[in-house]
Amino acid sequence: MTSSGLDELIARTHYVLLDFDGPICSVFAGIPAPTVASRLTKILLDAGVTPPVEIIETDDPFDVLRYATTHTPELATDIETAFRAEELTAIASAAPTPGATETLHACHDTGRPVAIVSNNSEAAIRTYLATHALTDHIAYISTRTHTDIARLKPHPHLVTQAIHGLDADPTRCVLVGDSTTDVQAAHATGIAAIGYANAANKTQRLTDTGADTIIIHMTTLANALRFLHFV
Ligand SMILES: [Mg+2]
Repeated sequence: MTSSGLDELIARTHYVLLDFDGPICSVFAGIPAPTVASRLTKILLDAGVTPPVEIIETDDPFDVLRYATTHTPELATDIETAFRAEELTAIASAAPTPGATETLHACHDTGRPVAIVSNNSEAAIRTYLATHALTDHIAYISTRTHTDIARLKPHPHLVTQAIHGLDADPTRCVLVGDSTTDVQAAHATGIAAIGYANAANKTQRLTDTGADTIIIHMTTLANALRFLHFV
């Protein structure tokens, strides 16, 4: 999709669903995700579980969480609880994404309700929004809870929950995310997806997954939202 494709999409968008880690901020800017992943893996090892090498060597704490869900519910809960604590620590040094605040202000000024749809924990997200005076710009938060760890994106649950939470018409919704799982979750619910390619290797992956359009900067989205009002 071209920039005119972005314009067409935004012109019919009334409800903006935003992934958190990426479009809003970089959660693990101060405490690298690989550090968190290795700490979670140590909990597995201490519990007598020996994960496969790809889990031991992963840079992504969500890989460890997903692996834990294949064991006992108790172990999955322990990993999720530890991950939540790590996220709360990390959020203090999260780096705001350029253009994120402008995007939220553009949504507010043009009457577009915003939902956060994130695999991260609610406590970390609420802490970040409060710290950055953004809470009032968010109409609904659909995030990981300790009872829903098997239904994270690409599962459609969090997106569906946000659509219901906003009482939204799905044809007027768009989800903005920086992962292929965001695109998959959006399309599983039948809503459009904008791929936010915040790293050079993401454009192709997001395109291949079927993103309806790609943006490189959040300011591009902010400007489109501000100047292409819902009619
Ligand atoms: Mg993300």
